[in-house]
Amino acid sequence: MNTPAYDSDNIFAKILRGEIPCHKLYEDELTFAFLDVMPKADGHALVLPKNPSRNIFDTAPTDLAAVVATTQKLAMAAMIAFDADGITVQQNNEGAGGQEVFHLHFHVVPRHEGVALRPQTGKMADPELLAGHAEQLRKALESL
Ligand code: AMP
Repeated sequence: MNTPAYDSDNIFAKILRGEIPCHKLYEDELTFAFLDVMPKADGHALVLPKNPSRNIFDTAPTDLAAVVATTQKLAMAAMIAFDADGITVQQNNEGAGGQEVFHLHFHVVPRHEGVALRPQTGKMADPELLAGHAEQLRKALESL
């Protein structure tokens, strides 16, 4: 398959290396989760493998399995933390597939009946609001 190689200068690689701050939610041996700073809904989280992979095409099946397991945890926690009616899980591959950051990630977005996702504005959400949402999610994760 003719897709570009992993670029370790991507913003999520910098977050994983601790070079850029994030609202951390969860970490285990193979995966890491934090809040999306431009959430499509309150509590919008991202789940990544720690190992470098650009997207679904070059990730090791073991990393993919670990990321899906963490995605399930985050989805269950988000149902509790945001009293959600459902969860949208999304994963984009390559630009044509909607991918903007080229380190594999799954979106976990809490949903409520009749409430549309927010449009992309390119603006970061209020950091205090994000910190509060991260705390809600961490508490719900602990309760699982
Ligand atoms: P995708 O289009 O699937 O590649 O999604 C990339 C996501 O990363 C978007 O939803 C952005 O809002 C989000 N994002 C970009 N930069 C950051 C950052 N520094 N911290 C957290 N989320 C980010």
